[in-house]
Parts: sequence; structure tokens; C-alpha cells
Amino acid sequence: MLHDHLDGGLRPSTIIELAKKDGVSLPVDNEQELKDWFFENISSKNNQVFKKFELTISLMQNFENIERIAYEAVMDLRSENVIYGELRFAPFQHQNDNLSLKDIVKAASNGLIQGEKDFGGKFNLILCAMRQHNNSLDVAKLAIDSTDIKVVGFDLAGPEYNYPPKLHLDACMLIKKAGLGLTIHAGEAADISYIEQAIFDCKADRVGHGWQIIYGCKEINDKFIPNGRIAEYVLENQIPLEICISSNIKSGASEVTIDNHPAIKLLNGGFKVTLNTDNRLMAKTSLLNEFNIASEKLNMGSNDKAKLIKNSFDVVFSN
Ligand SMILES: [Zn+2]
Repeated sequence: MLHDHLDGGLRPSTIIELAKKDGVSLPVDNEQELKDWFFENISSKNNQVFKKFELTISLMQNFENIERIAYEAVMDLRSENVIYGELRFAPFQHQNDNLSLKDIVKAASNGLIQGEKDFGGKFNLILCAMRQHNNSLDVAKLAIDSTDIKVVGFDLAGPEYNYPPKLHLDACMLIKKAGLGLTIHAGEAADISYIEQAIFDCKADRVGHGWQIIYGCKEINDKFIPNGRIAEYVLENQIPLEICISSNIKSGASEVTIDNHPAIKLLNGGFKVTLNTDNRLMAKTSLLNEFNIASEKLNMGSNDKAKLIKNSFDVVFSN
């Protein structure tokens, strides 16, 4: 599992418990209603999804909460047999209680380490810079300074429109120079030019979502085949696409439905497709569910399943 946000995967029961402890008010206070609240109205076109993150992030402002949430993420992923995961979050959003940035990363790292001890598997961290903010270079430096506490990569997250990857070129170059993994959310909500910038300008190793690469393709016999320079490059260089089916359907990428998501047609065309959850809470999903959807709705064959899993292992950031 390559693309899973720590702040998008909290357990509703944990949210209720931590909110009570920290005096944070919730929109609803029973578990089922809370689950539904997170799932409803999360269009990223209206930035609604970011309101949901405001709540989860407000509960991740002290060391023990962050540690616990990371620990539970490992426990939950292990319960569905995930043996390797890269979990991401944006440390600069967790400073309300005056924790140092290094301690914020350390808290998440400690949670993962304890989770590995108790449940097995291997889990690492990707640090996100929010593309609407201007501190990406500082996040990149923090990532480079935190490779001893499980950080293996850097990501650009947040609202895509109007914040193209090139705005953060310096941070991306620094990450590449230091040899860390670079992934960029691109072609999720905005258009294919964002994928173009992520790959050609920023030299991203992987693309977060990237499903809009189909607009550089033509569809023939259940396959997407490149129809231009961008898709050709992505295919030839086997640039991994971190595809998140349920999340795309919910996040306002309006023309994508559960029946026509291009994940498997891109795989059929030879693209390096991987399946991921993105936000287990907001998209009400799990990795098993993503594979079930691909199988039941998108004609994923048994060979495809093995291929998707292999693709993920081929492109992990850990060494
Ligand atoms: Zn994401």
C-alpha cells in the first residue's frame, strides 16, 4: 500500500474518544453517524474534503494522539493482511500544541514501530507539503532530516487547482538530490497538465492518483493506449500511478463512477497501476474493498490482481 493518509484513516471510535479527552466538539457523537458524516459531501471541487481533515487534524496535535493513530493504522492495515505500507501526513499541520516538527514525525514513527512489533509488517512515512502553502522547502528539509525515523519520501498534497507542482520545484529538486522518494498528487482533481509538470519538471518517481492520464490516451478494446507525449512517457518509463478508486468516486472527479473507473483499463494498456485507499475514513474503504471493487465492477482478472500487488512492491520507496 503506497498511498494512505494518516489523517484520513482514523477510527471513528478513536475520534470520539480523543475528542472527549481533548475537549473538541464533534458534528455528531455516535460512531455510525460520524462514519457517515465523514463520507458525505466530500467533493474536492468545493474543497469540502478539507473540512473533514480539519477535524481529524485537530485531534492530532499532541504526541500520544499522533502515536496512537499511527499505531492503529498499522493494526488496521495488518488486519487486512497488508505487509508493507507507506503512510503520509503533513507535519506542519500538527503544531498547535507546540510540538517540534521533529517530535511530530517521531510520534508517528513511534506508532509505526510499536505497530510493527505487535502486528508485524513494515511501515514507513511520507511527509506531505501542502501545495497551497509556501513551506514546501522546509518540509523537504524535515523529510531529509528524518530518514532515521522512518521517512522514505515526500509528497505534494492539498487542493490541486491553481497550485501546480512547479510551484514547489525547489523542494522537489532537494528531495531528488537527497535520494528520497518523490510522489506528487496530480491529475486527481485538476487536469493532465499537472501530471505533465509532476513528471517532466519535478521529476516525480510516482504520481498520486494520476487517473486523468486517460485524457492523453485513446480507449481501444478495454485498454487505454497513449495518444500523445505525456501518456507515452508515463507508459514507457513505467511511472507508477497510485490509483484510489473509491476516493476518486467520492472526491468530485465527476466523470469517474464506480462502473467506469479507468484503473483496470490503464493496467490493461500496460501502465504501472497500483491500488490504494487514499483515505480509509473519508472514502469508507479498505485495501480489500478496493480490490473487491476492481474485481466486481471493473473486470479485474486473477492475473491482474497479482500484477497490481507486484506493481506496488516494485515501486516502494524503502530500500
Ligand atoms: Zn491522497
